[in-house]
Amino acid sequence: MWADRGGIEEDQKLGRTQTRVVLMRSIRMAGEFRRQGAWALLLVTISVICTLAGPVLVRHGIDSGIRVGDAGALNFTVVMYLVVVAIAYVIGRIQYVVLNSAGEGFLRLLRIRVFGQMQRQSMAFFDREKAGVLVARMTADIESMAELVQWGLMQFLSSFLLLFFALFLLLSMSWQLTLISLLVFPFLIAASVKFQRDSNKAYLEVREKVGANLSALQEGIAGVRVIQAYAREDEQIRRFEESNRALFRSHLHSIKVTTWYFGVIEFAGIASSALIIGIGGWLVHRGSVSLGTVVAFVLLLASLFDPVQQLSQLYNTLQSAAAALHKLFGILDAQPDVAESDNPITLPVSGDVVVDAVTFTYAGAHRSALSDVSVTLKAGTRLALVGPTGAGKSTLAKLMARLYDPEVGTVSFGGVDLRSASLDDLRRRIVVIPQEGFLFDGTVRDNLLIAKPEATEEELINALNKIGLRERFESLPDGLETQVRERGSRLSAGERQLVALARAALVDPAVLVLDEATSNLDPGTEMLVEAALERLMVGRSVIVVAHRLSTVQRADVIAVVADSRIAEMGSHDELVALNGHYALLASTWNKTQPH
Ligand code: ATP
Repeated sequence: MWADRGGIEEDQKLGRTQTRVVLMRSIRMAGEFRRQGAWALLLVTISVICTLAGPVLVRHGIDSGIRVGDAGALNFTVVMYLVVVAIAYVIGRIQYVVLNSAGEGFLRLLRIRVFGQMQRQSMAFFDREKAGVLVARMTADIESMAELVQWGLMQFLSSFLLLFFALFLLLSMSWQLTLISLLVFPFLIAASVKFQRDSNKAYLEVREKVGANLSALQEGIAGVRVIQAYAREDEQIRRFEESNRALFRSHLHSIKVTTWYFGVIEFAGIASSALIIGIGGWLVHRGSVSLGTVVAFVLLLASLFDPVQQLSQLYNTLQSAAAALHKLFGILDAQPDVAESDNPITLPVSGDVVVDAVTFTYAGAHRSALSDVSVTLKAGTRLALVGPTGAGKSTLAKLMARLYDPEVGTVSFGGVDLRSASLDDLRRRIVVIPQEGFLFDGTVRDNLLIAKPEATEEELINALNKIGLRERFESLPDGLETQVRERGSRLSAGERQLVALARAALVDPAVLVLDEATSNLDPGTEMLVEAALERLMVGRSVIVVAHRLSTVQRADVIAVVADSRIAEMGSHDELVALNGHYALLASTWNKTQPH
C-alpha cells in the first residue's frame, strides 16, 4: 500500500504534550539554523512595526495636518507613509528568503538523516515497514513539514507579534475604543476553537481519502498485468472512481468548514468597524478622542483580526507537522537490530560455519521459523538445504549470513560469534547471492563495482576470468560500459544472474550463500549460469537453498528442513538409504526433473 492509513489514528492520538515534545526536539535539531532564525525574527519585527506604523501616520496626518490645516505636517506624513510601505515591502521579501532558506535547509537535513537511517537498518526493519510507507515518510510527511517551515513559521511569528503590538498600540491610543474593539473577541475565540476542531477532523479525513486514493492508483498500476489478464479493468476503474468520489466529498467538506469560519471572521471585523465608527464618532463629538484616532482604529482592526484567523489556521498545520515529525523521529530512533558490536572482532580468513541450537521467530509471526536448529558447514564443503515450501530453508541461510540474529543460540564463523564480528569482515567473508540480484541504473561495470568499489581494473578482469564471464560481458553492445537501465531492464534474466555471480566473484568470499533461482532460463543461458556458478563455488564453502536435484547431488551434506527443524542430514546416498523425507523428495525429483 502506498500511503499509510494507520497514520490517521496516530495523528489523532498525538496529544498536546507529545506535540510539544516533538516540536522542542525539532527546534533543537534546527539549532544550526540559529543565526538565520535570529535574523528572521529581527526582520519580522521590523516588518510588523512598519505595518502598524501606517495607521499611526494616517492618524497624525488627519489630526496634525488636515484638521489644523498644516500642509507641512501633512506632506511629512505622506512621505513617511511611502517610506514605511517601501521598507515593509523590501524587508518582507528579504525575510521570506531568509526564513525559507533556513526551512529548506532543515528539510534537507531531515531528509538526509532519515534516508541514512533507513539505509543502515537491518532486514527485520524492512519486514516491519512497507516500502510504500517508507516512501510516504520521505514524501508526504516531509511535505507536511515543508508547509510549516515554508510559510507557517513566518506567519506564526508575524501574527503573534502583530497581535501583541497592535493591542499595545490600541491601548496607548484609547482604552475606551480598545474595549469596544475587543467586544466581539469572545465570540471570535469560540468560533476559532470550533473551527480548529472541525477543520482538524476535515483535514484528517482528506488525508485518509488521499491515502486510499493513492493506494487504489498504485495497485491499479502495479497490478495492471493481472488486471488485464483477468479482464478486471472495469472493476478497477469503478474502485478508483469510488475513492475519487470520497476524496472529492472530503475536500468539499473541508472547503465548507473554512468558508464558514472566514465568513464569521469577516462579519466580526465589519461589526467591530461599525461599532468603532458609531461609538467613536460619538466620542469625537464629545471630544474624548480625536478623529484621527478613530480612523487609525478602523485601519488597525485588520491587524487584530487577521492574526487570530492566521493563528487558528496555523494550529492545524502545526499539528500535522508535529504528527509527521513524530513518525520521522520514530525512524531516526530505530536502532538497527543487526548492529556492529562495540569491540568488533576480526574474522579469520576461513573457517567452519557453525549454527548452534538456534531458534528464530520473525517479528509479528505466531510461530518460530526455526526452532533448535544445529548444523555445521565445514570449510570448503557444500551444504544443500531442501524441504517443503515455508519450512525455514531461506531463514536458515539468512541467519548463516547474519541478515538476522538468532533469538536463542549462536551462529559462528571460524569460532567467532557473528554478533561480535566486524560487519565489514563479515560481508567480505560471507556473501549472499539472492535469487534476483538488484541492478541499479548505470553501466554493467558500475553494477559489478557495487560489491567492491575500490577494486582495480585488474581485479575486476581477474574475477570475470575466474568464472569464465569476461567474454560474455565484453560481447554486450558496449561491453562493460553497457547501460543496464533501471532495474537492469536492458539485460536478460540470465545476464542479470551473471552480474550477481560476478559481484560475488569480485568480493572473493570464503562462504557463499545461495538461494537457487527457481525461474526457468533457456537451456543455453542456464548452462552458462551453471558453469559460472560451478567455477565460483570452487574452493569455497557453500550453503545453497536447493530446488534442483543436480545441485543437491553435488552437495557434500544435505539437510532436510521440515517444519522449522532439521529432519534429516547426511549425503545423498545416506539419505536415500534412510528412506524418509529425502528419499520421497528425491523420487519426486527423479520423475519430474532431468538429471
Ligand atoms: P521456500 O522454499 O518457499 O522459499 P523456505 O523453506 O525457504 O520456503 P522461509 O522463507 O525460511 O521458508 O520461511 C519460513 C517461515 O517463515 C514461513 O512460514 C514464512 O511464511 C515465514 N517468513 C519468511 N520470511 C518472513 C518475514 N520476512 N517475515 C515474517 N515471516 C516470514
